[in-house]
Amino acid sequence: MLDGDFFRRWLTTAAATVDREADRLTELDSAIGDADHGANLRRGFAAVTEALAPRDADHPGAVLVLAGRQLISKVGGASGPLYGTLLRTTGKALGDGAEVSREELAQALRAGVDAVTKLGGATPGDKTMVDALVPAVDALSTSFDAARDAAEQGAEATIPLQARKGRASYLGERSIGHQDPGATSSALLFAALAETAEA
Ligand code: ADP
Ligand code: MG
Ligand code: MG
Repeated sequence: MLDGDFFRRWLTTAAATVDREADRLTELDSAIGDADHGANLRRGFAAVTEALAPRDADHPGAVLVLAGRQLISKVGGASGPLYGTLLRTTGKALGDGAEVSREELAQALRAGVDAVTKLGGATPGDKTMVDALVPAVDALSTSFDAARDAAEQGAEATIPLQARKGRASYLGERSIGHQDPGATSSALLFAALAETAEA
């Protein structure tokens, strides 16, 4: 079972991963966007780490809701409200139990991804974070490692796609041949989740 401490460790691991990979995320965003995705997420996840430090939120759902709220308020780009909505909706779906199972997390994340598609209007194949999130959440019913691998494959599969949502869609066919920054950061979040589950 996964307790509040597991969720804190996931998000602080994600913050460290985002910090380490920020330059790569920004480089991907400079090819098909405005070169701020790494900086956006670094700022957002630094705020998440800071907000979690006082340990006020101690249940899985509360940790995710608090983190989501930080991302929504601290990140100006499209990704902040989208990731914030993902975590907040997932946290709300988890409710106020002290522990949840991996399958319960997968179910809650499904609600979170639904909220992301509702907010942003993107469906799989539009070359967005949704392309990594949907397969990852499906695979989470199998294992944390399967979710990590599915997210990574989903991110890589955005390379040949033409963007239909977000800033990259303004490029039309010129968005083809580049990996989507948001799908890449989604893969990092699931890599951090698998790493947390292993520790
Ligand atoms: P911005 O584009 O505002 O600068 P970021 O660079 O932080 O924001 O994030 C860009 C990423 O956000 C994209 O690579 C894509 O994955 C994701 N994104 C943008 N618009 C949408 C949308 N409508 N639905 C889902 N994801 C989106
Ligand atoms: Mg950007
Ligand atoms: Mg921007």
